Amino acid sequence: MKYFFTLCFLLSTLCLTGCSTEYNLATKQEETLIYGTDKEVSIGEAVAAKMEEQYETVTDVDLNERAQKILERIVAVCDRKDIVYFIKVIDKDLMNAVSLPGGYVYVFKGVLDKAENDDELAGVIAHEVAHINARHAVKRIQNAYGALILQGLATQSNARVAQGVNFALLSLFSAYSQQDEFEADRLGVKYMKLAGYNPDAMVTFLEKLRKEEEKQPGREYSYWRTHPFLPQRISAVNQAITGKLDFKDYLNLMGN
Ligand SMILES: [Zn+2]
Repeated sequence: MKYFFTLCFLLSTLCLTGCSTEYNLATKQEETLIYGTDKEVSIGEAVAAKMEEQYETVTDVDLNERAQKILERIVAVCDRKDIVYFIKVIDKDLMNAVSLPGGYVYVFKGVLDKAENDDELAGVIAHEVAHINARHAVKRIQNAYGALILQGLATQSNARVAQGVNFALLSLFSAYSQQDEFEADRLGVKYMKLAGYNPDAMVTFLEKLRKEEEKQPGREYSYWRTHPFLPQRISAVNQAITGKLDFKDYLNLMGN
């Protein structure tokens, strides 16, 4: 209980001194942030370092270039230009992709192997860039761990930073909410169209991911686990592509 009150105190103190309200172009909403962009980037850097301690990244120049070029085209048209974006390919035969706060996108090598064309890969990358634009990961960390990570970063307490980074890394491999997934798809389709990719490829790749899940259900670090609700998303993305669904309809789809 004491701990709880300390946390509440810290949060309220932080909000008096450090909270900012910003209009988010991606979500089209005013958002209250404990972690402003600078802090978000610091958290992202720390988590990225931890991530690359745990997972080997691919050094193959062609594979990295393919991912990098697609990222650049998506970033050029996305809603958030206040950060630098990075993409790395993780050397693991898994079909998944994750993004970290502050602009880091990680795609597992299995996605590059299974994507039949750049449009399909662009669909996966656009979805991750959308999570970053809508600040989904940082909001999740902010809600779950509040001031703890920030306090560690501010005081340079190594133990606390390490603890916070571990929490953050863990939370990245847990599932996004259905609302966050729909939003990332909706924005992803928008960025694909603006960047000149065929948005239908998002649907064909989601179908592939769904089939993969049926073959090997519940696999550790599967796309299904981090980005769930595939069947609902497939039908929603189809409607988003044809423009027959606006955001209100997306929200109404939730729970169906
Ligand atoms: Zn997602």
